[in-house]
Amino acid sequence: MNVPQQRKVVTEIPGPKSQEIIKRRSEAVSASLGMALPAVITNAGGGILVDIDGNQIIDMGAGIAVVNVGNSAPSVVKRVQDQVAAFTHTCFMIAPYEGYIEVCEKLNALTPGNFKKKSALFNSGAEALENAVKIARHYTKRQAVVVFEHGYHGRTNLTMAMTAKNMPYKEGFGPFTPEVYRMPMAYPFRHEGNIEHALEEVIHKIEKEIGAENVAAIVIEPIQGEGGFVVPPKGFLPGLVEFANKNGIVFVADEVQTGFARTGQWFACEDEGVVPDLITTAKGIAGGLPLAGVTGRAEIMDSVHAGGLGGTYGGSPIACAAALGAIATIEEEKLVDRANQLGSIMRSSLDEMKKKYPIIGDVRGRGAMQAIELVQAGSDEPNSTALTSIVKYCQQKGVLILSAGTYGNVIRLLPPLVMPDHLLKEALVILDEAVAQAQ
Ligand code: PMP
Repeated sequence: MNVPQQRKVVTEIPGPKSQEIIKRRSEAVSASLGMALPAVITNAGGGILVDIDGNQIIDMGAGIAVVNVGNSAPSVVKRVQDQVAAFTHTCFMIAPYEGYIEVCEKLNALTPGNFKKKSALFNSGAEALENAVKIARHYTKRQAVVVFEHGYHGRTNLTMAMTAKNMPYKEGFGPFTPEVYRMPMAYPFRHEGNIEHALEEVIHKIEKEIGAENVAAIVIEPIQGEGGFVVPPKGFLPGLVEFANKNGIVFVADEVQTGFARTGQWFACEDEGVVPDLITTAKGIAGGLPLAGVTGRAEIMDSVHAGGLGGTYGGSPIACAAALGAIATIEEEKLVDRANQLGSIMRSSLDEMKKKYPIIGDVRGRGAMQAIELVQAGSDEPNSTALTSIVKYCQQKGVLILSAGTYGNVIRLLPPLVMPDHLLKEALVILDEAVAQAQ
């Protein structure tokens, strides 16, 4: 690894050089874009981000669960370099190339389900979700789409309608597409009423308020990402699949954030043996290059007329080369197992913190996707002030952590799966100090 795997803080963060460039950013770049870490990055690898002032920051975000194989993973770099030198673009709909087909073969083989599968490739998670809905509607000849509270599916018009949270994703951007129906989510920490009845409640609402026969797709993240790493109770997802199967509804697992070894399995829905009809992937698929996929039952994927799906760049040869490199890395470096190892280090440390600090209301997640939910001590009132203070403290000490959650009170940990133990443990010690000072 060409980036030293060591935390090093040599200036305040942002340092003077970062500050200069961030000044240019505010002049040149639309103010609408957020910035979690005000440090300009020049280099990254393993578990470290290097900024222009020479700070070495522990990366607990992986570019929002994208660089699971680490930044500039050697196998990704090599294949991308070879591909760029060979050719950069033909448009797969104009003239095909093998890389696209190989990625689809891999997706078909790796995703759950012992039936004939096919795939189509796109550029972003939102685009994959848009296409999954298009395919489900075309296949079922129905229109309604069922989504869930706290869900996140993207920022295009259709996916904004599917996303639960208004600020910042939807405010002022309406009108939103019709025929999207939001159901209560089984959110163990916050569920009102008996969570045992959560599934029944959803089914009852679908039947009474939409009519099961009008539903094209049920779309759900097996563990909700932006919503705050909400892990539904056992039985909820399998129950939804059973209901979907019984009623001719396409069950779509949105694995954009959970996919590609993140949760300690190739895909999070494997945990309870859930077999989706369609599965959307992006983020971790290509080691940082923009690529997304929809994979599923061949009869559903093939139901759309020729030319009905596509896009100029979807499944670009460069992104496909990167994906083949990323998938090979996950296999060769056994990153599924590694996600579980990182997960148990995080979990035991977060559980210890919960015992010490009453502002930690809940610890949850699976594999290398772990979170804490912050509350006012002694209650379950969300505590976003503590979150701001914790994130800032960590930043000053050279640790990047990301926030999430409908109430802006969840700290989510998503390290690259190649992060060495010593860096992860160091980040957790700093997080512990940060929570202590936020009491
Ligand atoms: N679905 C899920 C579960 C996501 O986490 C995200 C991105 N955070 C998306 C869809 C949208 O992906 P993209 O940002 O690539 O459009």
